[in-house]
Amino acid sequence: MKKIILSALALVVLFSCSNDENTNAVVTEDANAHRGCASHEILEKQLQNDPKLAERMAQFEIEAEKFIKENRIVNGVLEIPVVFNVLYRTSAENISQAQLQSQIDVLNKDFTGTNTDYNSSNPYNSVRGAINVRFVLDAVYRKSTTKTSWGTNDAMKKSSQGGLNPTSPTTKLNYWVCTIGGGILGYAQFPGGASATDGVVVDSKYTGTNGTAAFPFNLGRTATHEVGHWMNLRHIWGDTTCGSDLVSDTPTHNDANSGVPAVGHRSTCSGQPLEMYMNYMDYTDDRGMYMFSSGQVSRMAAAFGSTGPRASFR
Ligand SMILES: [Zn+2]
Repeated sequence: MKKIILSALALVVLFSCSNDENTNAVVTEDANAHRGCASHEILEKQLQNDPKLAERMAQFEIEAEKFIKENRIVNGVLEIPVVFNVLYRTSAENISQAQLQSQIDVLNKDFTGTNTDYNSSNPYNSVRGAINVRFVLDAVYRKSTTKTSWGTNDAMKKSSQGGLNPTSPTTKLNYWVCTIGGGILGYAQFPGGASATDGVVVDSKYTGTNGTAAFPFNLGRTATHEVGHWMNLRHIWGDTTCGSDLVSDTPTHNDANSGVPAVGHRSTCSGQPLEMYMNYMDYTDDRGMYMFSSGQVSRMAAAFGSTGPRASFR
């Protein structure tokens, strides 16, 4: 934010010094001259002569402030506070603060394209995308339970069912850590659902990069994928054979990929396109996924737009 405000101020100064024909008064009489700009003196005179000018300028300030706020996602960094809700029966499930922080670090790298594998040799380098967000560990709530697994019916999100209610879900990303069971690594709620169940759920064994994080899902990419859904991204294969993910720059996929697909893997869908098997919204092992496309980034940014379903996060 500070950076944008500074650059906005710099622009205002530049604008006033170069764009007002009456004030191009740079003093250059001798070699020791200092740069001079009479803009402010001229402005003061104009303010005296034009009683409405101050009012118009005050209005520009209000509009500038509004513009800066509304464009946080484009020009600035959108901060997303993350609340972890950890439900544990065993001490292993009660994962450490360091493991939770390692997940925050992965989210920050993966969404901003600063992950070390971002520059992997990739036939889809030209459509890679990054979004200017910063995830911040806001709070950690922990609760001991007797449940061995939680399933996918949102019980972990309800204190009445032994779980933990979300904290400020319209302004904070709630992330439940628990044993889900049934081979499910995690799940997310898409934008538009009820606030009471909003957020992502990721199994403790697939959260972060240290502690109990288990190969081949030990690089924190389960949460990258789930937060992608939370920001309105669909699975890259469109959840049906050769389906659509509503993104224009991703190719058609037959179905989900798993493991780490061979380089050059193509779909058998119309035109046999090269699949984007390295995309976070596929189902590959963590080490096989390392990019969002720019079309996906546009969809995520739209979710945070002024009329978007996640506008309350701005
Ligand atoms: Zn998914």
